[in-house]
Amino acid sequence: MTVAEHPPSRVRLCVSDCLLGTPCRYDAGSKPNAAVRELAANPEVEVVRFCPERASGLPIPRPPAEQRDGRVVLETGEDVTDAFVVGAEREVRRALAADCTHAVLKAKSPSCGTGRVYDGTFTGTLRDGWGVAAAMLRDAGVACASEETVETAGAAAFLAQSLESASSAR
Ligand code: SF4
Repeated sequence: MTVAEHPPSRVRLCVSDCLLGTPCRYDAGSKPNAAVRELAANPEVEVVRFCPERASGLPIPRPPAEQRDGRVVLETGEDVTDAFVVGAEREVRRALAADCTHAVLKAKSPSCGTGRVYDGTFTGTLRDGWGVAAAMLRDAGVACASEETVETAGAAAFLAQSLESASSAR
């Protein structure tokens, strides 16, 4: 089924699964976000749950990871770039096969960050940049936002904007 065949009153949304409360993070925790859950519960939204690090097959729990010099490294120094890329490719392929036009992704993550990520020093410092999987979605034409954008706009306004842009893209 193509995007054009979807009813214009619905948006197919790729969502970082940790924001929905699934314990898929590196530390076996989650990051449930009330605004994202409200958005996902709207009947005009079709959610495709997304977690490239789960799809990578890396063990949980594990040390945190950050991007450094074009690679992804654990805090221990282990290079996990290949696993991150494999997981990202799997999940992006699945999101595109499901015809997602929009995504709400976990801010600052080395996989899901949209415009800002931690800088590789493991000091909580941010720099401009995209998560590995978020960049793949963006480059494939998916409109990517973070949970911070949904919180700022409010779930209803964010949905209205997404529906409008999904319709104009048809
Ligand atoms: S890879 Fe993305 S969806 Fe999965 S736990 Fe990390 S931030 Fe959440």
